[in-house]
Amino acid sequence: MQIVIAILIGLGLTQLANLSTTVYLHRCLAHKAVQLHPALGSIFKVFLWMSTGICARQWAAVHRKHHACTDTSEDPHSPARLGWVRVQLTNAVLYRRSARDPRTTERYAKDIPVTRADRLLLNRGIIGLGLGIAILVVLLGWGPGLIAAGVHTVGYIGLGGSVNGVAHTFGRRPFDNSATNVVWLAWLTCGEGYHNNHHAAPTSARFARRWHDFDLGWWFISAASRLGLAKVRHADVDALAARASASARA
Ligand SMILES: [Zn+2]
Ligand SMILES: [Zn+2]
Repeated sequence: MQIVIAILIGLGLTQLANLSTTVYLHRCLAHKAVQLHPALGSIFKVFLWMSTGICARQWAAVHRKHHACTDTSEDPHSPARLGWVRVQLTNAVLYRRSARDPRTTERYAKDIPVTRADRLLLNRGIIGLGLGIAILVVLLGWGPGLIAAGVHTVGYIGLGGSVNGVAHTFGRRPFDNSATNVVWLAWLTCGEGYHNNHHAAPTSARFARRWHDFDLGWWFISAASRLGLAKVRHADVDALAARASASARA
């Protein structure tokens, strides 16, 4: 029974980390599609530090590079060049390689400031991860704590690989770009599976196009906006995609 609870906690942590990734790192920090209340942004940032060890500024830089150089030799994780299996299985390694190159943040994260908290603590992912695992062990005990951490690690890294691998290879392409829409992946990643829509309109805070599409990240942003905790910049994929293709033709 304890093992089942540990597995459920691990899966729950993965979903919270996915929500934090899509709302804070992706839609807010990397694309500025939504502005979050500073307190909400800080909660996401600290949670990601403890649950993934990710440095927010590096994540935004690597992701912006992916959009700027999709499927070229500069793309940090292109299935068209490396094959989707390699991206699926080694996404974390590919991410790390690009994140550790100082040129990536210099070029793609100039506008994101390095705060005092970043310098002292949040840029040291290993401390965050260690703290996160220690909290799980204190709350659940050694065995279940490590099982929960293991399930979460496999889930988060695996789903991140799927967004960059599967959602550039299989699925529907309503817009003319190499990314795809994969519904089951959208369910598991709070809306990230609508990756073709996203590449067509990167500054839209909403990734889905229809009201019944499962875009939990957008539903969260919508609720936060009603509570005065978020300001949405754009949220219409079709309008933004039409504008982008009109300016590309001009
Ligand atoms: Zn992509
Ligand atoms: Zn993006």
